[in-house]
Amino acid sequence: VKPVQRPQPPWTAGRAVAALLLILSSAAAARPSAQDLGQQCGHRHVVFDYTDHNQNENATYPSISYQQQKIYEKSFCDEIVNVETWFAQKNWWTLLSDEQPERFVALPETYLVRRGSFDGPYPDVLVVTNTDYQLSESLVPAFYGHRGRMQFPARRAAVNEGAIAHELTHVFFPNSNRMLAEGLAVYVQSKIGKNLAYPTFDQTPDQLVQAFTCGSKKTPLSAINLAALDQVTTPTPLGLRIGPLVYEADPSPPYAIAGSFVGYLIETDTLGIDLFHQLYVRTPLVPLERDAGSPERWREVYGVSLADLETGWKRKITNLGCPP
Ligand SMILES: [Zn+2]
Repeated sequence: VKPVQRPQPPWTAGRAVAALLLILSSAAAARPSAQDLGQQCGHRHVVFDYTDHNQNENATYPSISYQQQKIYEKSFCDEIVNVETWFAQKNWWTLLSDEQPERFVALPETYLVRRGSFDGPYPDVLVVTNTDYQLSESLVPAFYGHRGRMQFPARRAAVNEGAIAHELTHVFFPNSNRMLAEGLAVYVQSKIGKNLAYPTFDQTPDQLVQAFTCGSKKTPLSAINLAALDQVTTPTPLGLRIGPLVYEADPSPPYAIAGSFVGYLIETDTLGIDLFHQLYVRTPLVPLERDAGSPERWREVYGVSLADLETGWKRKITNLGCPP
């Protein structure tokens, strides 16, 4: 319903109250749709929600400044086009076209809780930036049926260090095998991401793996066991034991390992992204279901075992030498 244009009344107190009441009543009647709230990025409809809320103070306020929001939204829109184009060039959309719905299913209930008046069609992507979030998330919401919901810590968004390409990879191609899901997301962020983001920032996954294994007696490359990492299912965090050290609190090393290994699979001439795609689609994310895939699938796709591929990857990292 288009609001009726009315001539502006002179600004007296009484008329101001009347005008305010009119605005409130027409807002309630019109109910802003997602189209009104969001914006179009490429052919995706995106809604940004920056609402921070303090219950003790009963106060609602933005999680990042208006100026930061504008920069963040520009980055976000650019990255959607960037990531979609990259996957399109690799034929991932075409290959998945049978299973890939045109619109993503994005979170009715959660969204309604956060925006009482929201009643329009759901956005493709809902970006929630909040001070309470410690990590970016979109794969875990997808597991709970809220695909398209993307959560970012405000402190990252404020300095344009949101892992946007990483999280978009989860939204576009969620996976039930957490090593493959995070490996691809870390790889895409590092390879084509337009901003620096967790966990690699200005390094590559390979450099991170080199940095914490090179010359280390505690975490030598030989102590990494990809077969264990390959058994982690979404939404369990991608933890890993390397020698005596268990990485659960800070998932950075397992993320770097997964990203580096996926990069090896994609970029090695004799392997390549088409074979990786064949492996990847064997463990699609089904909400509320767990499936790491069988260990045999590696041999079925690649003709060799995961252990064989792991040996090749470790050789590559070793050949890079220790960082200066
Ligand atoms: Zn992730």
